[in-house]
Amino acid sequence: MNTQVEHPGKMMGFSKLSRAEKLSWMECHHQGIDEDIFKKFWIQDTELQKTMEEFSENTLTNFPLPFGIAPNFLINDKNYTVPMVIEESSVVAAAAKAASFWMTRGGFKAEVLGTEKVGHLHFYFYGEKNDLIDYFNKYKVELSESVSFHLQNMKKRGGGFKGLRLCEENKELPNYYKLECLYDTVDAMGANVINTSLEELSQTFKNTLEKYLTKDLGKRFEGQLDIILAILSNYTPQCIVRAWVSHDVSKMEDIDGLSAQDFISRFVKATQIAQVDVSRAVTNNKGIMNGVDAVVLATGNDFRAIEASVHSFAANSGKYRGLSRAYIEGNIFTFEITLPLALGTVGGLTHLHPLASTSLKILGNPNAKRLMEIIASVGLAQNFSAIRSLVTTGIQRGHMKLHLLNILKQLEATDLEIDNAKIYFRDKVISYKAVREFLKRVTIH
Ligand code: NAD
Repeated sequence: MNTQVEHPGKMMGFSKLSRAEKLSWMECHHQGIDEDIFKKFWIQDTELQKTMEEFSENTLTNFPLPFGIAPNFLINDKNYTVPMVIEESSVVAAAAKAASFWMTRGGFKAEVLGTEKVGHLHFYFYGEKNDLIDYFNKYKVELSESVSFHLQNMKKRGGGFKGLRLCEENKELPNYYKLECLYDTVDAMGANVINTSLEELSQTFKNTLEKYLTKDLGKRFEGQLDIILAILSNYTPQCIVRAWVSHDVSKMEDIDGLSAQDFISRFVKATQIAQVDVSRAVTNNKGIMNGVDAVVLATGNDFRAIEASVHSFAANSGKYRGLSRAYIEGNIFTFEITLPLALGTVGGLTHLHPLASTSLKILGNPNAKRLMEIIASVGLAQNFSAIRSLVTTGIQRGHMKLHLLNILKQLEATDLEIDNAKIYFRDKVISYKAVREFLKRVTIH
């Protein structure tokens, strides 16, 4: 009998309400919330609105973000216009500026170093370790066949199941082991495909281990195995791409008031700081992710998966480090990045969201490997622009110029005041205080 008493304020069955009922519930239960604000963001096209709503649960409305493009991305000698979805001012401008800079200097180069994805059965085994190892060696083929069961089509595409191993992880956690499966999911991110195959493996593992322990060894199975999780891993250090730019320093002109030699020397030092100082490394990598996430979002990919993977990769030496490196060999300056990017150009939202599908079209319908190369290049471009500003003029000059409009809007400036402010602040330091004082002055006159 369930004796648990429900909280008196608990909302029951919200998901079952119609959209109109959901909005009225919000208005009734949340002071100051007017249902019109949600309606304002509905799309006129009812079919499209329905599609958007069905992506998630308890949807009230859409939450639009700016969709922009950074043109002139020359990557492996191909010119791309890159779609970006991001709310932070100056990110798209910085990407476009770096793309344009490198376009006339050979462009970006990129290569995929691996596409392996991983999934696990995490389990506890309380029997003899050697029995488990012997079992695994005897049943490895049967276990592998059960993983492959859901991957026939993936195999036809050139991917599929790529390997299985038993990992002993019980130094920190007694009796904990995992079965690790390796996959190539071709153009899909693969989360659902992997998880489905792991659940199949889970059944086979349980059945065959029981058979081995009881029939082959005449031992007890009851209470020996506890399978806890069957899940892909977002840690994908073998699904990686390298992107780089390089140039002869002696052929480079002055940059932002610095000689090429000085600029490059300061640039290299900045990347070295991010290798050793975690405070800088995190911010350096956040800047990289400004570009990466914007394209990941625009193409309907899973930005949480990418974020988790990239940051864990940044710490895979045991210390969290910057993801980019710059160095000079002879006269050649190279700036490079290696990122784990488990991306899809099919599956998930990539073709369900009409704008994600449009983004992929803008990019020339790349396969997953090409998309990895594009996104790594954008991350590198973003980092180049940020470090370029930091080691020369400072980041705020460019950023605040683009942020000026946000400040003016927050202070409810009129169109005329906005135009005047843009002219006034052309050669002045922009801050919230300075803009407020400017508005006070122009309003008084
Ligand atoms: P999906 O379930 O849409 O499957 C992709 C489909 O594309 C497969 O059925 C495959 O057969 C088909 N396909 C067609 N052409 C292909 C090609 N050339 N290459 C590969 N496959 C091809 O998507 P998915 O990629 O399995 O999963 C991605 C989704 O799962 C994302 O929306 C993600 O947010 C979500 N997800 C993520 C996690 C996680 O990251 N931890 C966990 C669960 C779900």
